Amino acid sequence: MAADPDCLFCKIVSGEIPATRIAEDERTITFMDINPATRGHVLVIPREHAKDLLSIDPGDLAAVAQAAQRIAATMPERLEADGVNLLNSCGRAAWQTVFHFHMHVIPRYDADPLRLPWTPEPGDREEIAAAARDLEG
Ligand code: 5GP
Ligand code: ZN
Repeated sequence: MAADPDCLFCKIVSGEIPATRIAEDERTITFMDINPATRGHVLVIPREHAKDLLSIDPGDLAAVAQAAQRIAATMPERLEADGVNLLNSCGRAAWQTVFHFHMHVIPRYDADPLRLPWTPEPGDREEIAAAARDLEG
């Protein structure tokens, strides 16, 4: 898909809007998030515009995943990260605010303030099974 003239991240791809780029390849760009959740929070985007997980080209998705893995692998040594979260939000209900696919790569530190946004507790077994039937096949 062609660049979307109204898309913030397409403008980062073209250079119209500045970003602190730290890695690039044929299909992807990795740059610093301007509102970092933790020190070293980056975003990996495809060069080609796609609004979300459901519409991104599978080859671009694979390239983003590989770029995310490459930068995540540097975080323990370069940032002294204790862990890493990969996060993608697909749709407003899932917290997506910029509608050009992106993968957050968030270095995690033992003492950082981030917390799991749900409370794990056992679900109703029938309801889990019903959801599985809705999803399978
Ligand atoms: P989302 O909320 O869609 O999952 O993530 C969008 C991310 O883009 C947010 O973490 C936000 O901080 C980041 N962001 C928004 N505008 C800009 C910008 O102009 N430059 C950079 N580098 N990041 C941005
Ligand atoms: Zn775009």
